Amino acid sequence: MNEARKKSRSDRILSKHPFALGKYLVLNIVIYSIVTAGILFWNRLFETISWWWVLSLLPLFLNHFRYIIGGTLLLSMAVFATYTTEITWIYLLLFPASIYVGHLSAVLLHNAVHNIFRPSWLNPIIGEVCALHQISAGFPVFRLVHYQHHIHSDDPEKDPHPSLGYTFWSYIDVGRVLVMKRLKAIYFENWGDSEKSQNLWKTQEILLVCSRFVKTFFWFSLLGPKLFALVFVPSYISYIYLFASFNYFTHHEKDDGTIEILNLDNNWYFKFCNKTLFGVFYHKNHHLRPRLFNPMHFN
Ligand SMILES: [Zn+2]
Ligand SMILES: [Zn+2]
Repeated sequence: MNEARKKSRSDRILSKHPFALGKYLVLNIVIYSIVTAGILFWNRLFETISWWWVLSLLPLFLNHFRYIIGGTLLLSMAVFATYTTEITWIYLLLFPASIYVGHLSAVLLHNAVHNIFRPSWLNPIIGEVCALHQISAGFPVFRLVHYQHHIHSDDPEKDPHPSLGYTFWSYIDVGRVLVMKRLKAIYFENWGDSEKSQNLWKTQEILLVCSRFVKTFFWFSLLGPKLFALVFVPSYISYIYLFASFNYFTHHEKDDGTIEILNLDNNWYFKFCNKTLFGVFYHKNHHLRPRLFNPMHFN
């Protein structure tokens, strides 16, 4: 906990300057736009498909999980209808691999946030690659959010994703909404609630949506409709699912309404994840020793 508290002070994405998050997002937008332009120049994707496909990406980076799932179903149907004869059994083989990669992405980002990889400069690199896969705000934002979770676990106001009072599906649906609400609160705690800070925050929210769009478009441009819809998107959904699962099921609401943090290893899914994903459901141990790469090995 002390380590988390100390680390949190260095997470300055919302405290070193009122537009620090905005600058980071603009940098992301510029970098991924340039890379994507290079990819499109190389593969000429939109000479073979319509620009209308871009519209199908819009639900995928919204905050509510229900829109992401709805958009995924529509996109998958469009891909199956357009490429019926080109979709082979290979995509079926790739499906479990993409589910595993999605889970791995959540675990690696989490370990990078705790600065576990050595040498330590690897952590932000691994973190940014995972954040690109997760179409998220980025490594420093997740680091801030996650340290808040360690410091204020299950506090209904200050934990960015408290599970108390939610069913699992309502929790997974509002996960990003809860995080955005907490980020906004931290921002106004730091910079005060004035017209200027309101405007700066709104601009940064818009930049966040733009940066998520650019990251999504990067993957679509790189992979094309078939691989994007049938391999990338399942791995993206799988990341969201695992992240919500280990935060929800391990923070267990007791009969008296209080929360206890658990190590879970009592069904085939938890066992499989613990064995292949470095003890990810040993979350009680993780809260006790956040720097352990595999909390399953802590007694
Ligand atoms: Zn936790
Ligand atoms: Zn953690």
